[in-house]
Order: sequence, then C-alpha cells, then structure tokens
Amino acid sequence: MTQPLLHVATYHYVRDLPRTRFPQIKGMLLDDFRSQVHALPDMFEMATIESAVAFLTGKYVPRRDLCLMTFDDGLKEHYAQVTPLLAERGIQGVFFLISACMEDGVVAPVHMNHFLMAHLGFRTYQSEFLRILREMGFPGETKPDLSVCQRTYPLDTAEVAQFKYLFNFVLPAKSRDIGVRALFQKHLGDEADFARELYVNWGEAREMQREGMAMGGHSHQHRPLATLRYPELSADLTRNWDLIQKHLVPQEIWPFSYPYGKSDSYNRNTVEILRQLGYRLALCTEAGNNLPGMDLFSIRRIDCKDITANAYRHQLPYFAGMPETGSAKRELR
Ligand SMILES: [Zn+2]
Repeated sequence: MTQPLLHVATYHYVRDLPRTRFPQIKGMLLDDFRSQVHALPDMFEMATIESAVAFLTGKYVPRRDLCLMTFDDGLKEHYAQVTPLLAERGIQGVFFLISACMEDGVVAPVHMNHFLMAHLGFRTYQSEFLRILREMGFPGETKPDLSVCQRTYPLDTAEVAQFKYLFNFVLPAKSRDIGVRALFQKHLGDEADFARELYVNWGEAREMQREGMAMGGHSHQHRPLATLRYPELSADLTRNWDLIQKHLVPQEIWPFSYPYGKSDSYNRNTVEILRQLGYRLALCTEAGNNLPGMDLFSIRRIDCKDITANAYRHQLPYFAGMPETGSAKRELR
C-alpha cells in the first residue's frame, strides 16, 4: 500500500458569481463547490484539524488519503453558504479570520483591490490608482519582476499579476492604503457597510464552530508578514490571537494561515511568534501534499480548483509523473 497523503484545499470566494454585484470577481462558483462537497468524500477520507495533526505527527494512519478543506479571509459566504453545505455532509471546514475586518469594520486592502478591479475594469482602475500614487509623490518602479509576480499570482494575466504584486508587496502600505481607500469610497461607498456584508462577524464565527467548523488566524491586517519589522509583526499577530481567544469558542488546536502564503511571505520570526502565541500549525500556499514528519509550520496546500485532479493523479497510475497541479486538471477535461 502506498503511504497516504494529506491534501489541503484552499478556498477564497465561493459564490454564485453571475448573480452577485461583482460577477468579475475570481472565485469558485457555488454549484462547483456543491459538486466538490459531494465528490470529495468518495475520493478521500475527509479530515478534521485534529485528524490532520494526528496524521502529520505520526499518531494516526488513515486507510486512504486525507483531504482538509480550508477557507481564507473569513468571508460572509463561508457562513451563509459554505457552512450549511459542509455541516449537512458532516465535513469540517477550517476558516481563517482577518481580525481587523471583524473588529474594526475595515475592508482589507487586498480585497479593495479585487472589488475595484471587478467594478471599474482592470485598465481604468490601474490608471486611476497610479495617478493617485503619482499625485502623492510615489516615485518608485511600477513594474516588478514578472517571474516573481507570476509565481505569486499564477491564475492572473501578466499585467494583472504585476499590478497585484506591486500593490500587495512593493508599495509602502501607508500611501497605498490612502490611495486605495480614496478610490474605494468614491466608487464603492462606505467601507464599514461593505465590511459588514463581506466578512463574518464574531457571532457568526461562533455559530460556525457550533456547527462543527474549526477556526484559525489569518493575521490582524492581512499584511505580507515577511515585510514587517519585528515589533509590528509581533503586534499584528498578538492582536489577532487575542481577539480570536476573546471572541471564539475554545479549540484544542489553533491553526494559522499565512496571508498571501508563498514561502517568501513569512519567515523565522513569523513562525517563532506563532509558536509562542499557541498556534500548533500554519499553512502556506506552496503547492503540494503533506506527509507525517513534515514541518507543521509550512503545511502545503492545493488550489481548490485542482483538488480533484490531484486526487486522480495520485491514485491512478496513469497520472504518475505528471506535474503537481494545474495541467493535470486540464488533461482530465
Ligand atoms: Zn488571505
């Protein structure tokens, strides 16, 4: 028998996109999600955070591959649509919360960027945003190295990937946030109202826990953690941990998910602080599967759209030797 693996799927937006105010948002369609919720238990043993950790630490040997479903950013649809579908099938989802969005009524700049792009179209948004930055005197290079951008944003076109990378990693957060907030207010209205519609609140998160779901941290402000100085990093992660402990039902195991998630988005300081706070494991977005004995603070994940292809690739001899993700899925069609 081959060694079972742990596959961790990453989800963000899961919505009936054509019928929403922002059909251009990139996410998984609710119907596709529903199909996955029915199909995955036939391919995998569905994991909980407890069984996943037991497997990773060599205390549990499942008969077949495990699959853990994880959801980043604490979006309202995770409460309203995703949790009922999972609860009905007895599946545990793990949800990672951005505490500032719940506590302070802010929309994370990474999400403002998505919604402005969807609302205005990429070209118009990009030129309006860069104009504001120029007016604020930002002189820097506006075209970061393409290969780095595409590694971080493999699903976007080259120019969108480059813009997102500039936005999330290169620009000084303060001026970027002033610029994007001004545009957000102008085109999409009140930020606090928008945040209330976009994110789960603490009461909803507790309800999800009572439905069998598990919660985890995703930082307070969703900044790229490796770019923060130690005091700022420590303050952000501590605030996130404290709010989660204050508002949520106690859990045996608390997981964390790194914002952005590639291996260069966090560092040794990040891991050290997370351990000290009491997190037991942390998930990145480097693609791959997981085996017992692996570093619990760099658990690999697979984009939700690739999870079924990944199962076949591992289980059918035909797929042996094919690339990890993406192309395997296209071959199946
Ligand atoms: Zn995120």
